Amino acid sequence: MKTVYFDIDTQIDFMFPAGALYVPGAERLLPAIASLNHYAVAHEIPLISTADAHSENDPEFRQWPPHCVAGTTGQLKPAETLVGSGQIMVEKQTLNVFSNPEFASLLERLQADRYVVYGVATDYCVRCAVTGLLAAGKPVSLVTDAIAAVNPKDGARVVDEFVARGGTLTTVAELVAEP
Ligand SMILES: [Zn+2]
Repeated sequence: MKTVYFDIDTQIDFMFPAGALYVPGAERLLPAIASLNHYAVAHEIPLISTADAHSENDPEFRQWPPHCVAGTTGQLKPAETLVGSGQIMVEKQTLNVFSNPEFASLLERLQADRYVVYGVATDYCVRCAVTGLLAAGKPVSLVTDAIAAVNPKDGARVVDEFVARGGTLTTVAELVAEP
């Protein structure tokens, strides 16, 4: 079974309290994100890391505080989430990774049988990613101990909706125990 991992938006502005658009508790996910990313590369599982890359006057900033501006430190990924050449970086300017015109053809090329998703924020960019991936008709798993929400109630609702639509839940320990 060919699996693809999706590490959603684990960027400095989202992951740390000093970041421009901090997702509460996100820094505590870093060991989990790092182990999943390293596991993927070690097992030749394609790893797609999505990243916001905004311009200084991005239209998104009418709705959100400026964050992840290309060329700033906040836009970068924390060092422990970077795992070298096996990591496919996909930049985007909106919440939804499917807005990157290259993304659909990348999925097509990878020919996966299963998608595994983690990162931030559950109630925004993770939600967009799992919704689009479920629509692709392949099994999608969400890693419940490697996600964090802007609003925990909304995050819990997203997880419930995801399961209702046929998604499955997994954990870091379960995934890294796979041979
Ligand atoms: Zn953004």
